[in-house]
Order: sequence, then C-alpha cells, then structure tokens
Amino acid sequence: MNVELRQHAARYVELLRRHGKRDAWLPSGLARRLPVTPLSPTSSAPSSVPARTTKPETIARTTPTTTNPKPKNDFDLSSVLQGVNGSKEDKLAALRKKTDACKICPHLAKSRTQVVFGVGDPEAKLMFVGEAPGADEDEKGEPFVGLAGKLLTKMLTAMELTRDQVYIANVLKCRPDMPANTSGNRKPTRTEMDACLPYLRAQVAIIAPTVIVALGSTAVEGLFGPQKTTISRLRGTWMELDGVPVRPTFHPSYLLHNQDLALKRLVWTDLLAAMEKLSLPISEKQRGYFLKPTA
Ligand code: URA
Repeated sequence: MNVELRQHAARYVELLRRHGKRDAWLPSGLARRLPVTPLSPTSSAPSSVPARTTKPETIARTTPTTTNPKPKNDFDLSSVLQGVNGSKEDKLAALRKKTDACKICPHLAKSRTQVVFGVGDPEAKLMFVGEAPGADEDEKGEPFVGLAGKLLTKMLTAMELTRDQVYIANVLKCRPDMPANTSGNRKPTRTEMDACLPYLRAQVAIIAPTVIVALGSTAVEGLFGPQKTTISRLRGTWMELDGVPVRPTFHPSYLLHNQDLALKRLVWTDLLAAMEKLSLPISEKQRGYFLKPTA
C-alpha cells in the first residue's frame, strides 16, 4: 500500500474512532500496517469514548490478553447431529447450540458477549466467509453488521441478491479479545482459527453451498492455513474447501478504505465469477459495473 493511502486510511480510522465509531474495522493485515497516531491530549472525543491508555502501535499488534495451552477441538459433527434427522435449519440449530457453549479458547469465551454463529439461508448456494466478528457483531450476534457489512449488503444488491438468500459466517466465531480500554480489532491467532475452523467446516458440510467467497487474506488463511502468496495474487483464482469451490477476494473493509474503481472492479469480477458458477442470470449492465466512473 502506498504511504499516502496508508496515512489517509489512518486519519480516517482515527476520525471514526474519535467520534465513537467502534466499527472502524480494517482487515487486520491492513490495520497492522497503518501508522495509527495517538489521540492528542486536546482531543474533543466524546466522553463515551474510552481514552487510550496504551500506545496505538500496541493496539494494532496486540495479542490475546491471556495465553492458553494450544486448544484442541475434537468436535465430531455426526455426534452433534445424532438424532437430528430434520432439515438443514435443524442441523444448523444443533450445531449452533454446540458452538454457543464452546469454551475451547477460554480467553474468548470470557471476553465475548456472544458467539457469532452465522446468518442467512440454510439452503443457500452461495456462502460468504469473513475473518472474525468486530465489536458491533459481538454486540448484535450477527456477522457483518457494521460498515463492512453494509458494503457487503451493497455488493449483494449489485448481484441482485439479499442477505437472506445467502449464508454469511466468519472463520472465528468469537470477537478476538482486546486489552481493556482499547478500541479496534486484532487479527485472530492461528491457534484460535484452528480451534474454530471445525465449526465453519461443519456449517459448510450442512449447508453444502455451491460456491464460497472468502473475504480477505485472513479468511483465506483461516480456511487454508498460511499462504505463500498475497490476496492480490489469490483473488481471481479458485481454491477448494472440502470439495466446494472457494473464490478469494478482497475484504469489503479494504474497499471502504480504498475507493479505487479498478479495485472495485477486481472484487466485482470475483463476484461475477461466483455468479457464473451458480448459473445466476447476469445482465449486460451488471457485466459493465465498475468499468468506468459513473457520470
Ligand atoms: N465483520 C465480520 O463479521 N467479519 C469480518 O471479517 C469483518 C467484519
């Protein structure tokens, strides 16, 4: 990312945070690279915004507030679904019950408001997978309800779909914990993602979507492990999770902070590819989105 853009993004995030916008969400990879500046002592932040007590750099690079021995998720879907012979909805409900009770990462079980399981149509053919809940998602119990979520909803509208026609979930079901009196989000650790991934794979097994769109590099890492290459190189290609084609693309938050038309077009190209795989109708108008600025 160029320096100017990075500084612009940093100023934007800081502005949002000063005004109490807890959903100043950035993909964690981007957040780590931002030169976040501390709030100035003369800051007129509303009193509801907790003053920062730690260096912002620490916030961006923060690790879990407590460390635990490597948790193991010996989760077995067939035992969770034992006696559940009903619909995908019933199966997801049984899985949600199990996930809601999860304490494999004790620090997250302690810090979360609730488990953010996933939302949408259990019969969906298209599934979106993000990174982890932020503060708004933790509060509402639903993925992608903040600024990034609003953009995701707009992306769906461009596809002529609604949120309840698809399924939306995250690799991590709990909000990554943050030190007291800090804002922002941190990237889930490898250990946390490994512990939680079986729940996502179980969701995929039950829903059996035709296509998954992975939103951002952390989602890709959570699904497939550390990658040797960047999301810029992975997008535009197909990966595969348990036999389901996965289309990696940029995270909506990245788009929020980079209004470049060419970037929007790249994401749109990925969504068009997903629509083609789903045999969804695509109009000429849709094919032309983000090719040139609208007047
Ligand atoms: N909200 C989510 O639920 N997931 C993300 O990856 C980002 C914001």
